Amino acid sequence: MKALSHFPMRCALLIGLSLLPFVRATSQSEPYTGPIIDMHVHAYQEPSPILGKQFTNSLTGITYSAVPSLEAHKAWTFAKMAEHRIVKAVVNYDPEWEAEDPERILLGRGSGDLETLRRGFMSGELQVMAEMTAYYSGVQADDAELDPYFELAETLEVPVGYHIYPGGPPGALYAGYSGVRAENAHPMQIERVLVAHPKLKIYIMHAGWPYLEDMKALMYAHPQLYVDLGVINWGLPKAEFHSFLKGLMDAGFGKRIMYGTDQMVFQGAFDQAIANINSAPFLSLEQKADIFYNNAATFLGLSPEEIEKHHLQAGKK
Ligand SMILES: [Zn+2]
Repeated sequence: MKALSHFPMRCALLIGLSLLPFVRATSQSEPYTGPIIDMHVHAYQEPSPILGKQFTNSLTGITYSAVPSLEAHKAWTFAKMAEHRIVKAVVNYDPEWEAEDPERILLGRGSGDLETLRRGFMSGELQVMAEMTAYYSGVQADDAELDPYFELAETLEVPVGYHIYPGGPPGALYAGYSGVRAENAHPMQIERVLVAHPKLKIYIMHAGWPYLEDMKALMYAHPQLYVDLGVINWGLPKAEFHSFLKGLMDAGFGKRIMYGTDQMVFQGAFDQAIANINSAPFLSLEQKADIFYNNAATFLGLSPEEIEKHHLQAGKK
């Protein structure tokens, strides 16, 4: 009976709540203008045949010009990081990039000789075990050959970025990426690793797209698991990217989604990736700040001093 006396208030609340979707749909939050941490940037030490070529994405119809040379790649990437207030970036892999801007660059390496990696992490030359790309050779995350790498990262408390899918551009299997298989793309392959190495700091690169339900299950079961949005934020049609991101946000994982570009050599990638997050109609400005900066700051364990410095840096632009 007592509850009935609150009826008018509850009724008003319900009416108010029913208007919320309408209000949200018409009021897009403003673009984020603070500092950005990019968890997924590529440097290259060997020239690739794609340099200087044009590439049309068959899913979006967008044509990208690849940078003409490795020098241009470095200059373009650093210019874009400055333009977009990217104050920190995980770069895989070129020590010269770190030497050029050690404050900004976290040097990542996710493959190669284990002892070389161990020395790199212990000396401080390397900071992140990324990008781990065993997928391209048809090896799954829980394969025994990768276990020593996870063991090393867990022991040294080094963050790990693990690539699962997509593997190259659409149809890459027929364009030289012979190890790519859709059947190996399942993110659930990481679960045994998470259980075997519970202290591992790990993010799934490209957020496990397109397996939304599996990612919800994994992130629900394993609160230490983060993701980055590299490549899916510019390589997929915007509607598909938004739908996938919204699925993770709606499920409550907005504190574990980190920004990444995965620019490779495709000019336009940074601008498009950032714009596609800013234009997501379901994200509040606070949620954008989490994705662009706060979540990675937590994941990487940045100090309050460094965080403050980043905000000052971004404010100066
Ligand atoms: Zn990548």
